[in-house]
Amino acid sequence: MDNEPTIFDKIIAGEIPCHRVYEDDQVLAFLDVAPLSRGHTLVIPKERAARMEHLGDESAAALGRVLPRVCRAVLKATGATAYNLLQNNGADAHQAVMHLHIHIIPRYPDKAEGSPGSGLGIMWPSGKLEDGEALASQIRAAIG
Ligand code: AMP
Repeated sequence: MDNEPTIFDKIIAGEIPCHRVYEDDQVLAFLDVAPLSRGHTLVIPKERAARMEHLGDESAAALGRVLPRVCRAVLKATGATAYNLLQNNGADAHQAVMHLHIHIIPRYPDKAEGSPGSGLGIMWPSGKLEDGEALASQIRAAIG
């Protein structure tokens, strides 16, 4: 299920159009077709990986190398003063397209500038960390 071709494979293959802002051998960035704000951009690896934990090291490195450049370009081109990076993994985390993608979602001091939206709405209902050291040690062990 998680490794089926998606609409983003068709975009990578040039079979359906996109508004491309960056491309190299491993990475493609293009405008989101339903933007949360002006300049909403998606950055994707060309490797078919549905989620972050599936991505190979080479593609991960390429994505990490390119991301700050695309962020800088979006800021420069739009005049946005801030942005959120969002990366959903799995349907329970609101992922709709099962090809890993990073959203760059600009913010504008005057919301009208970046409408519709304008930008990512965030709820942050924080709790209290109860078993921090036990949990951290489990994650450390899982990293190996
Ligand atoms: P997510 O919920 O993180 O999977 O977000 C998927 C995003 O892909 C949404 O913001 C969509 O608007 C966007 N999207 C879907 N199809 C296309 C397309 N053909 N071109 C550009 N963006 C798209």
